[in-house]
Amino acid sequence: MTEVLYNNQPTIGIVGGGQLGCMFIQEAARYDIIINTLDAADAPAKNAARNHIIGSLQSTEAIYKLAEISDVLTFEIENINVAALMELEKAGKKIIPSPQVLQLIQDKSIQKNFYQKHQLPTANFVIVDDIQDIDSALDQLHVSDKFVIKTATGGYDGKGVFVLSRKSDYISAVSMLKGKLVIEEFIDNAIEIAVITACDQQGNIKCFPAVEMVFDPKLNLVDTLICPARVHESVLKNAEQLAVELTQHFNSPGLFAVEMFVSPDGNIYINETAPRPHNSGHHTIEGCYTSQYEQLLRVLMGWPLGSTEVIKPSSMINIIGPDNVIGNYYLKNHTQLLEAEGVYIHLYGKHETRPGRKLGHITILADTIDELIIKTEKVKRIYTVAAAFYEK
Ligand code: ADP
Repeated sequence: MTEVLYNNQPTIGIVGGGQLGCMFIQEAARYDIIINTLDAADAPAKNAARNHIIGSLQSTEAIYKLAEISDVLTFEIENINVAALMELEKAGKKIIPSPQVLQLIQDKSIQKNFYQKHQLPTANFVIVDDIQDIDSALDQLHVSDKFVIKTATGGYDGKGVFVLSRKSDYISAVSMLKGKLVIEEFIDNAIEIAVITACDQQGNIKCFPAVEMVFDPKLNLVDTLICPARVHESVLKNAEQLAVELTQHFNSPGLFAVEMFVSPDGNIYINETAPRPHNSGHHTIEGCYTSQYEQLLRVLMGWPLGSTEVIKPSSMINIIGPDNVIGNYYLKNHTQLLEAEGVYIHLYGKHETRPGRKLGHITILADTIDELIIKTEKVKRIYTVAAAFYEK
């Protein structure tokens, strides 16, 4: 094992330089580890990285450039050139997580088949190549009313996901969709939770406590996150066990965010996995002894995994661009937030807002879950994203 804090530490290259990469760099800086990134010229991580390569995440040339100046490669987004990573891995480059895992996750139909193959619970599904086959898929699934259609590739943050009713003209609603589709049973009245696991280079696995994700129904983005999730203790344990089991099947070091549905009768269904730091783990920066970013750093460096224990119950609010503001903005009343104890603001360096854009997040700590819920609602009422009439 490498010793911590000696010169000549491996450098890390991240494909992607968004807010996740940026928060990762902030943690890595504590250990004096050099991080390089690849992304667009104005990406949030551009100033935090030692070297920021400007280029497309799909460009083989740009990914190779990043590999040239980095000892270990990782990624903070799924929609990247996985073939280039596979070539590099074949040539002996260390890439964590393995590009094979990324490849299976990039396609929701392959991902669903993977869960089924390993007998991990997931909502029943049928894969079709043509919208004309949706009806027979619904018959096969015994759907009489609500169901879900997902594009197999290219979707993110709820884009490419359609919750529909068989009683409506659903064929017209999805007539523009191309390529493979996953037709899925709808898990009614589900609570959505996520468990983040980490697998180190020796195969040891640890997981963070399950968090509850409350979605904005209009934007399909996480509105509030609560840790630990407010579900029965036995459900928490089962969810954590399932996430660990799934991680074992991935057979790769890395950090994995496993999103799940919990039905009212306590059944758990794996929805999807992100092989990278995740929105559902932002609260770990202040709420847990080790953050999800530090945990990934430990995996990449070959260091032992850190404690995933909760310091205090925590919540996280995404700061999302409202419908009525486009362009420069500021956080109105943010001084009131600064005065509150256990309230932490994170802004992602996106100087312009658009409706639905993730601009930052706020983490809130409290001594009990009940106190946390009250405090979270209070914080939500304090600030707004308002138009700023100046250039930053
Ligand atoms: P994305 O990859 O774009 O985040 P998801 O598969 O997570 O897409 O779906 C987005 C949201 O749609 C979920 O968070 C959930 O609210 C809803 N959803 C997706 N699949 C189902 C399902 N089978 N049953 C109930 N709700 C679902």
